[in-house]
Amino acid sequence: MNLDEKYFYIPDATDNVAFITEQLFRQQTKEWQTAAINYEGLKNVRVRDLNINGIRFCIQYNPERIRSSAAKVDAKSISERKCFLCPANLPPEQKAIPAFDDFLILVNPFPIFSKHLTISKTAHTDQRIAANAGSMLDFAATLTDYVIFYNGPKCGASAPDHLHFQAGKKGFLPVEKEFVEMKNRWKTSKYKSVEISFADNYLRRMITLQANNRNDLLETFAKIYDTLAQLQPNETEPMLNILCYADENAWTIHIFPRIKHRPSQFFAENDAQLLISPASVDFGGVFITPRLEDFEKLNAEDIIDIFNQITISEKEFFELKINN
Ligand SMILES: [Zn+2]
Repeated sequence: MNLDEKYFYIPDATDNVAFITEQLFRQQTKEWQTAAINYEGLKNVRVRDLNINGIRFCIQYNPERIRSSAAKVDAKSISERKCFLCPANLPPEQKAIPAFDDFLILVNPFPIFSKHLTISKTAHTDQRIAANAGSMLDFAATLTDYVIFYNGPKCGASAPDHLHFQAGKKGFLPVEKEFVEMKNRWKTSKYKSVEISFADNYLRRMITLQANNRNDLLETFAKIYDTLAQLQPNETEPMLNILCYADENAWTIHIFPRIKHRPSQFFAENDAQLLISPASVDFGGVFITPRLEDFEKLNAEDIIDIFNQITISEKEFFELKINN
């Protein structure tokens, strides 16, 4: 297909990508009916807060996210469907901004955030972070009003075969504020200019990297990635979710190493079932429940149990700490 037809704007090296992204957002939520309805609907979405030992969680009842939470991501299902991120298969109304190294910035029509983007590679290529961490940093530094996030191919990505990030408006995920408040309680170490922090009493286990030097960050990320890869030699990439954002001073990268995709509750029957398929947003402190019954019954015990099942073990986290 002729990609130009999908372009919202023909790019120029001097463009202010953040500014054009806001324009794209306005145009799409006005002229693309699916996006218009779903962003309007998000204003009335039901939410409730849960405080677990001083750690905040927001539960969001979001029926439109069923397609992501319940997505079939096994190899057979993936090979039998049309990839929804390939430019040729995008809805006719959807427009894109080309950016960095062959990526497209798109408005996500099924939002969790008041502003929610999908950033996908133009070409159909597997979801992998190792070779693309630099692009994640570049998007974070460009879209400074957004948190960029990455869901691993077996950790919540509904298109594990097509490389993509998502981006959500800053200020929504509890982890952003809690990291600043709780950071002093956690063990830290340093590698080059990067400050590494290990959150082990945060219900989920989280490694955070902070620095303003891009190369140092990429090197540190690769080091952590390699250690995680050694712990999961049979996986194509270690199971993880990542949140990444930047301000004028530094980047912050939160890494959530995992051992499991979906908790047992996802597969349980009748009353015991919770249709929750945690990914970066849930690790950031916002639990998405596509069904009303789950929104109403999800409690502190469930959240503690779900994280215990899917997050990296205490023993492995300890090894990470001493090796980094
Ligand atoms: Zn594709």
